[in-house]
Order: sequence, then C-alpha cells, then structure tokens
Amino acid sequence: MKTVAIIQARMGSTRLPGKVLMPLGKDSPNELLPGEPVLGWCVRACLNAPGVDEVWIATSTLPADDAIVAWLNTNKPSGVLCWRGSETDVLSRFAGAIEASGADIVLRITGDCPFIDPKVIGEVIQLQKRTGASYVSNVDPRTYPDGLDVECFTKEALMAAHANAKRPIDRDTVTYWIRRNQKRWPAESLINPIPGMENERWVLDTEADLKFCQAIAARCPWYKGPPSQLDILGILDKEPALRKLNAGHVMNERFYDALAEEPLHRRSYTYSQACLARAEDSIPLGAQTFSKSKLQYPQPSPLFVTHGQGALVWDVDGNEYVDCVSALLPNILGYREPRVDSAIRRQLSKGISFSLATELEAELAETLRRLIPCAEMVRFGKNGTDVTTAAVRVARAFTDRSMVLICGGYHGWAAWSCERREGIMLSEWADTIRVDFGFRDIPKEWENEVAAVIVEPESDVLYLRFLREWCDKHGALLIFDEVITGFRFDLGGAQKFFSVKPDLACFGKAMANGMPLSAIVGRRDIMMKMVPPDNVFFSGTFFGETLSLAASIATIKVLEQDDVINSLWLTGGALEREVRTRIAKRGLTDYIMTYGAAPLVRLHFKDAERAPEGSMPALFRKEMAASGTLIAASHNLCAAHGPSEIKRILKSYDHALDVIKDAVKKNDFAARLAGGGVEPGVR
Ligand code: PMP
Repeated sequence: MKTVAIIQARMGSTRLPGKVLMPLGKDSPNELLPGEPVLGWCVRACLNAPGVDEVWIATSTLPADDAIVAWLNTNKPSGVLCWRGSETDVLSRFAGAIEASGADIVLRITGDCPFIDPKVIGEVIQLQKRTGASYVSNVDPRTYPDGLDVECFTKEALMAAHANAKRPIDRDTVTYWIRRNQKRWPAESLINPIPGMENERWVLDTEADLKFCQAIAARCPWYKGPPSQLDILGILDKEPALRKLNAGHVMNERFYDALAEEPLHRRSYTYSQACLARAEDSIPLGAQTFSKSKLQYPQPSPLFVTHGQGALVWDVDGNEYVDCVSALLPNILGYREPRVDSAIRRQLSKGISFSLATELEAELAETLRRLIPCAEMVRFGKNGTDVTTAAVRVARAFTDRSMVLICGGYHGWAAWSCERREGIMLSEWADTIRVDFGFRDIPKEWENEVAAVIVEPESDVLYLRFLREWCDKHGALLIFDEVITGFRFDLGGAQKFFSVKPDLACFGKAMANGMPLSAIVGRRDIMMKMVPPDNVFFSGTFFGETLSLAASIATIKVLEQDDVINSLWLTGGALEREVRTRIAKRGLTDYIMTYGAAPLVRLHFKDAERAPEGSMPALFRKEMAASGTLIAASHNLCAAHGPSEIKRILKSYDHALDVIKDAVKKNDFAARLAGGGVEPGVR
C-alpha cells in the first residue's frame, strides 16, 4: 500500500495572491537565504511525517502556477513530484495526481498550512490503517487548530467521488462528497487530546494571518525542522497576545456561504428506503420515536441520518439539510458542540454509570437551583415522561388527592397523559382530565379535589397567572411542563420569562445538547415527599448516568457564556417575519399560519378543501426536505442557525410555498403525495 501526501497549492488565492510562495522566517543562519516559502514549510512537514511514502504537489495548469513548478525545480526538495490539473475542478486534479503517483492511500494537505504537524499527519495515517475507514481526518469535527488540517482517504473513495460528484462544491472541496456519503464511505475522526484547540487559527488566508505566521516562524526557525502543535502552543503560552494578530475570523464562512448560494438540486432517497426496509424487519415502525418515523414524513423523504454538524445533518444518501427539527429540540447548541463534546469525553475517560452516586448530581442540581425560580430541590430522570410522571405522582402524594387537570399539552407516553389510548386501562387515566382554556367544563364539586394542574407554559402570561391563582384558591399544585420551554425561552424556563412561579417544573430536551437527561424541580416541602417516611418512589438505573450530567453542566455554561437564548429570540423573530411575508405574498395566509414565541415558532396548517387530511403539512415537509431543509411543524432553532442557514431555510420556504400555492390552485395534493398525509404530530 502506497501512502502519498498530495499538497494542493496555487498562486491565485483571492484573499492573498501568491501566498504559497511567500517567504516565512527571515532569520536564516545563511544570509543568502531569504527564508523558506510557505509551501516549503508544508513540504518539509510532509516529508517528515511517519508513514508518508511520497510527497506530491498538485497545482493548476494556469501560467501563474508555473512559479510553483519553478520553485520545485530550483529547490528540489527530496523526491517531491508535481502534478498539474484543473484550477477549479480540484477533485479531478486530485484524481489525476492519484493516478500519476500510484497512491492507494492519499493525504490531502493544503499549501496554506505552513505549520502542519508531521506527528498529526502520522496519527491520521495510523488511524486509517487501524480502522480501515474510507476517510479519516482531524477536521470533521474540528478539534485541531485551523491550519493543522489533515485528510486521509482511500483511492477508491476519491475515484468514486470523481465519478459521481456533480455539485460545484464537491468538485471544489475535493472531499465533501466522501464526507457527506458516510453510509457508503465510513469516516473516522482524529480527536485532539488538548481541548479548546479548535478556536486557534494558524492558517494563511489573509494579511492578518501572514502577520501571525511571520511571528510564529520568527520564533521557531525553519532550519530547525517543522514545528509541532506543542511547539506553537508553547510559543503562544508565553506570548498569548500573538493571537490578536489574526483574531476575529469566522471559521469556514466561505464554505457555508457557498452552500447558501447553491441552486436547488435533485435528491434521491434510495438508501433511506433500504434502511427503512431493514429496520422494519426488526423494529416495529422502523423507528424509536413517533415523530422521527415514516408516519411523519411522506414518501419519498429522508428517514435516516448518518451525522450532524452545527445546524446541519446528512442523510444516508449523502444529502445535507439545514435541520429545523433539531432532534426534536435537544440540539440547542448545535451538533458536535466542541465544549460539550469535550466535557463528555473527559467524563467518558472516568466511566459512565456507577454503583453509587457522583458529585456531578449535586453540581448540576445547584446550577438548576441558581437558574430556575421554583427550583429549591432537584431530581434527575432520562426522558420528559419520567419527570412529568414523577411530578404528578408527587403532587398526588403531597395533596392526598388524585385528580389531575391537563391543559391541552403533550406530557409523554405514560398512561396518565397519553391521548392514544390503545393498550391503556381506563383506571390508568380515569383521574386525569383534559380541560378547556377557561376551566369552564370543571364541575364546581370537583374543584377542591384537584391534586395538580399541569401545563406547557408556552405563550400566554395571563393564562398562566389565572392557573396560578386557581391552584392557590383550590389547594392544587401548579406543574409547569418545561420540557420544551426550558433552556429555550430563558435559562430559568418560561417561569422566569413570564414571572409566574409553579410549585413543580419538569425539564428535559435541551438540557444536555442531545444527551438523555431530564429533571423535576420544585418546592422543597413537595420534593421531600420522595424521601421516607413518605417515600414517593422515583428511581431509575440510569438517572444519575454521568455523561449526560457532564454534558448538561457544559451545555448550560455555553448557553450562559454565549448568550445563546438572546440570539434564539432574535434569529427566531427575524425568521418568522420573513416566513410570514412569504406566505402573505403567495396569498396562503388562510392555509399556513405561524404562532408562538420566537425561539419556537410553530406552524399551523389548514388543509385545502377536498385535500386529504394532513396533506398540506405532508407536502410542506416533503418539499422543504427536497429543497434542503428538514422541518416538522415548528422552527426548532439552535445556536448554530447562523445567517447562511437562515438564508437556506428561506430558500426552501420559497420553493415549498410555490409548490403549495400551485397545489391549492389545482387541488391536486393527493397526486403530489404518493404516501398520503402525515399523522398529527406528537413531539
Ligand atoms: N413534555 C413535553 C412538553 C414534551 O414536548 C415531551 C416530548 N416531546 C414530553 C413531555 C415527553 O418527553 P420524552 O419524549 O422525553 O419522554
């Protein structure tokens, strides 16, 4: 097996023309040598990397790039060869270089990374060898400084990309096609053992970067051999101010902007269909969560994903989407948030579930007490259902009453609240009553028998105040189900946002950025019912599982540090305004309405006359997905929904609303939907 490092280099950089041949480090011991060009630093690192058999430079056939060939011919770094190909179709340039070099395993290095670390290159090669993955990198997710980027892939994967990739972004970025097709081309990631390094910028793209790179080069003379990540960190530890030379750059901005500018393209869902057939053979419904199942997405639609990053997800067919479902709301910061993932890894190195409690429980409980107005005491669960059920049980024990009033929301799959009654005994929900908005249907004689009123505190402050007063008057407990609103409306939940304090509250979803964790919080006297002598039983093998607790502590820190909730309000508000304008412009205001608070704007669909039930939301979901946005019936925003993602969501809206407008006009929803409508959603 021949492993070849291919360094991609050209003179025509838009932001810093000629950067690859700019000399770095003038303090040579030989006065005649002006310093080593950037490309020379890069070449040397590759030549020093363990496991690299040969180094090639892949440049373009443009006359401007003759300078690169001339440099190579003059300096003749040992055994380095050159390949010239298309300037813009870099994927084909790589395919040519691979054929010419006879590589089996390829490393892709870019010529603007003078400080690439030979040891890191070697580690990526070893990881590929040991896993046999088609693609291995240290950039997906990024845990290394920008500028230490190493990608390694098999010849087979690259040639498949070359044969199949059609989108300009695939041709330009070389590896994006492989990376997005992870079902077919399994990927592995080299994770930096030093946390926080993803924020470092050691690459050469701009004038400011050049100043930084010159400063580093001046402190680690090139003739001493290629510096390592640790060498540069050592320099920055001594002189942290050097980082200011090129601070304030947004990572991968151009890549995301390019995605936002792309025209719509056709998507196929062949692998999703195959995965569904496989899953349905072993798994009833083929999914674990109703709202992620085929019942919610008319076919053909994407049904299975391989990975996510920020606010994006990729399906098994290699299609990418702006994810407006956000895993049904746990994904509050974005997929693979580095600080949360690093906290999970740190805890993973100590263990996951233990035989006794850990101090993480008290640490997180104290944080929740600091943030949530009604939280005097805290217990953890795994799912929202765990804690809503616990809240109802504790309330019944505390009040010595059994009746529970449910104000219209969803509180999980347990018998007491589940509206789908198949398999549930009458006695299991007999004492829970769904009530209308003003409690007009509650007989007077019941009023003083109510143990608790449970509500999702989403939108109406006057209603919440009414419930508070009603409960106080009748000796019932007020339970806020903040599984959705918690850590989304405010760090202290909707109760903080609306200034209405419940007796108990339930949190879940966004607590731990995707790790399974929920919490019941509330008044000390009520929560103490869970200990002897009352002993209300609430216990689970995994309730104190530590990865989720560590993730939650980290998630809440990021939410606070980055002022995430404020941005959700701003982004959510702006998105809703744009969507409303688009709906109105197409005369669809009678069919599609938006409502709710900005961090979680909901959509309401009124099916067109004679259209089959659920066909309007079904067509909406299908067409949004077809145009690159995964959405159910609300804007589930996360911190990673930035300007380019919002642009893409709106592009999808433009497409989907045009289709719906046409379907309303022709009344042909059924014809457009092979699989019929969607079932009314649970969340
Ligand atoms: N309460 C609310 C408000 C919810 O939206 C949900 C689920 N989406 C639950 C409770 C139940 O949570 P889980 O599915 O985690 O059990």
